[in-house]
Amino acid sequence: MQDNREIWKNTISCLETELSKAVVGAFFSGTALDSFDDGVAVVSCPNRLSTEYLKHRYGAKIEETLSTLSGISCTASFAVKKVASAKAQELGPIFKSGELDGLVSSYTFESFVVGLSNQLATSVAQAVVERPGNLHNPLFLHSGVGLGKTHLLHAVGNAIKERDSKTRVLYTPSERFTNELIKAIQDKRSTSSFRRRYRQVDVLLVDDIQFLAGREATQEEFFNTFNELYLSGKQIVLTSDRHPSGIKRLEERLVSRFSGGMVADIQTPDLDMKMEILKRKAAEQGATLQDEVVLEIAEHITGSIRQLEGLLQKLLAVSSAHGVSPTKELISALLPSASAGAAGSPEDIVSTVCKRFNVEESAVKSEKRTRTVVTARHVAAYLLRDLSSLSLKDIGGLLGDRDHTTVLYGVDKIEKELRQNTLLKNQIDTLRVEILGKTA
Ligand code: ADP
Ligand code: MG
Repeated sequence: MQDNREIWKNTISCLETELSKAVVGAFFSGTALDSFDDGVAVVSCPNRLSTEYLKHRYGAKIEETLSTLSGISCTASFAVKKVASAKAQELGPIFKSGELDGLVSSYTFESFVVGLSNQLATSVAQAVVERPGNLHNPLFLHSGVGLGKTHLLHAVGNAIKERDSKTRVLYTPSERFTNELIKAIQDKRSTSSFRRRYRQVDVLLVDDIQFLAGREATQEEFFNTFNELYLSGKQIVLTSDRHPSGIKRLEERLVSRFSGGMVADIQTPDLDMKMEILKRKAAEQGATLQDEVVLEIAEHITGSIRQLEGLLQKLLAVSSAHGVSPTKELISALLPSASAGAAGSPEDIVSTVCKRFNVEESAVKSEKRTRTVVTARHVAAYLLRDLSSLSLKDIGGLLGDRDHTTVLYGVDKIEKELRQNTLLKNQIDTLRVEILGKTA
């Protein structure tokens, strides 16, 4: 279970995606979640002014976010309380938004299984850690979805920080770069702080750079960011779902910059590697699986490591929910249902998720962007991907004619969130069991 501090940190991270960093920095520093029982949250603030601000301007948003994170309906009240100075210091770094590096601490080299399919990518990534900015610059990693690019990218950042905690590392999905740029341009004064944020780092890690395709203003800005960093010997690592030359509507000068350092790809894992990954992931959760069970899963999943994890999760969730051991038979019982789509129809998955988040299905399929609706939409996308055999395009269709990159973005977001947010993980496990239960 998460403690209040972690819950509050997650709440702030969620709010940060909607409010500007400046707002969060200004109004949330020095705040804490004092208590949180049965959906009743008491937030302490350093002074009267901030109590008033939080209550009147962000109260509803805070309640909504807490509700989303905890899965129950929440209310929040605000009180002035001097945070003891030691505690305030401890809380400090979370809120100094400028210092957020975006890194997920569990994505490390230690937790990354190396095999034939990712050996080259891993070794060049490790070389970058040894000598950032020197050897392979930029490093460009590419592969199909769910094969470990994001994991490896964070691993580079985490390892560099571990060697020297003063190194300024910044991880960002390319969409965040785009969104922040758009905001900065709209709010004319903040372009310079946007530039400072991205140009004053030692290591810039940009995930899924293919999403810059067709965005001319962003490409222009990224080109300048890239050059400034590159010329001052700063390390840049990029990932993409394909080789730079395969990204359509990407300016030629960027294609050539991206290909100018080291380009490495990751292939789909072989059977041994899949088995190794399964054993490691099961062990991380305190489960031991028989070899025949591991083999069964590894043989069945021919696609990505994400799918491999998905099936393992499903197996462990069902086995713990029903108090049965994760046997080969249980997998067979799960598999046909998963692939034949009997695991609750896709429509069923959507309605189960909506019910759980207490939102209208029509809202999830609309353009509505309140936090709860967005989260429900992303969770639905994630579970549809996991439990149905629908293509990304079909999932997009089902969720209100969204395009497949949007779906992928949502799925990715949940994947990432799951790493850090145990409340969300519990919620999704429950949903999965609920949906799978409908097959019986
Ligand atoms: P991509 O960014 O290529 O779509 P991710 O990095 O998000 O893929 O990987 C998908 C999931 O698979 C993540 O949970 C990640 O931790 C896991 N994963 C991928 N490759 C490995 C590996 N070699 N060892 C352990 N876990 C891996
Ligand atoms: Mg990724």
